[in-house]
Amino acid sequence: MSLIATTLEKIKKSSPGEPEFYQAVEEVVESLEPLFAKEKKYLEHNILERIVEPERMITFRVTWIDDQGRVQVNKGYRVQFSSAIGPYKGGLRFHPSVTSGTIKFLGFEQIFKNSLTGLAIGGGKGGSDFDPKGKSNNEIMRFCQSFMTELYRHIGDTVDVPAGDIGVGGREIGYLYGQYKRLTGHYDGVLTGKKLLWGGSLARTEATGYGAVYFAENLLASRNDNLEGKIATVSGSGNVAIYTIKKLYELGAKPVTCSDSRGFIYHEAGINLATLQQLKEQGTNESLAKYAEIHKDAKYTPASSYPAGRNPVWSVPCQLAFPSATQNELNLEDAKALLANGCILVAEGANMPSTPEAVHAFLEAKILYGPGKAANAGGVATSQLEMAQNAGMIQWTFEEVDQRLKGIMRNIYLNASRTAEEFGQAHNLVLGANIAGFRKVADAMIDQGAV
Ligand code: NDP
Repeated sequence: MSLIATTLEKIKKSSPGEPEFYQAVEEVVESLEPLFAKEKKYLEHNILERIVEPERMITFRVTWIDDQGRVQVNKGYRVQFSSAIGPYKGGLRFHPSVTSGTIKFLGFEQIFKNSLTGLAIGGGKGGSDFDPKGKSNNEIMRFCQSFMTELYRHIGDTVDVPAGDIGVGGREIGYLYGQYKRLTGHYDGVLTGKKLLWGGSLARTEATGYGAVYFAENLLASRNDNLEGKIATVSGSGNVAIYTIKKLYELGAKPVTCSDSRGFIYHEAGINLATLQQLKEQGTNESLAKYAEIHKDAKYTPASSYPAGRNPVWSVPCQLAFPSATQNELNLEDAKALLANGCILVAEGANMPSTPEAVHAFLEAKILYGPGKAANAGGVATSQLEMAQNAGMIQWTFEEVDQRLKGIMRNIYLNASRTAEEFGQAHNLVLGANIAGFRKVADAMIDQGAV
């Protein structure tokens, strides 16, 4: 039986009902086969079987009181996947679709992403099936306080440092941090994504979106090309999408789409960033239908009218595509539509947004393809810069953090592309990113013995 088949069979037996986790593992193991063929030590030390098993998976009950005085119950999770190269680090996701399998897929990806940044951070992730949509500020605060009342005993600034993800932004980090301080009395860098007033880093909010665009710049430069004048499609309209759109404009490209779970906007003249920020960042997550009411030349398509299993954002003609919403939002049909329309670059702001079939189509077509664990690593890298500033009790300027972010994205690109070249597949950054990320963690595991 092949290595992939054996590994998958084992995890399916020990962790039933977690398809997203199997998908993430399959992609990594497939990429690692050439490495295992070349260097025997990893199989001899049984690294594969060890690395797919989290060091710790914490599941807990979160009870909170809604505005009607009723007790509500949600499930909370924190996976501490790997501490081989540093304290666990990874965001918290609050979304009704969250299961243990979602958290494990995200935590597994995070190990390699964090390693690839070149910084000393291990892999972790957490979250809850709590849905912040339609909840009052007070309900969100009470939920966050209850979530932290359990989580605080498992985290610490040199142990495990959570951050934001879908449904967790500055407001939620604030409530979580407040409760952490109340419980421990410590004012330390235990969470990142904090607001500037109380320990946050300049440019952290922008970092994932900016980083994805810097990564795209590096991809294009490898073919003596740049962003100037190119049409881009972007999905999502949250943190990552907004700052991807902003940086695309700054570097001369034109983003023409954005989306949310209710529908999508195609604005051929270019997405109006101020309107988008007003509806999504400063408001209460308004429907994008409002965008089309404000900009009469923009077209709004409600999700209810999407063809089954398709995301029509990817049928809009473009040269560059930035999936920035969620996992598996771009399938084989979508990939074919992008390729047929002449798309030359896909840079993933979201985690695992392309299905395995879509990824294979991009690799086969040899377009420029930046997988999420490389292209969206700017967020976690800047979180680590926040940790460094907290530890040193200093604050760097926006420009200083942005320059470091640019340098980190360049290094991630070089690390992934040189590794891909080393294995004779220069265009395959999936392979490059997975091997480069894995090798460092695996070598650390060997050095640290059977733990
Ligand atoms: P936000 O919560 O700020 O925004 C998420 C966006 O995606 C919203 O527009 C949301 O629409 C949309 N979305 C979420 N789920 C679905 C769905 N099932 N179908 C359609 N649309 C959906 O999250 P972020 O921008 O922070 O995260 C986006 C992606 O980027 C995620 O994959 C995340 O893991 C990844 N990422 C984020 C990082 C960060 O620093 N924030 C770092 C690295 C990766 P709606 O509001 O209607 O639900």
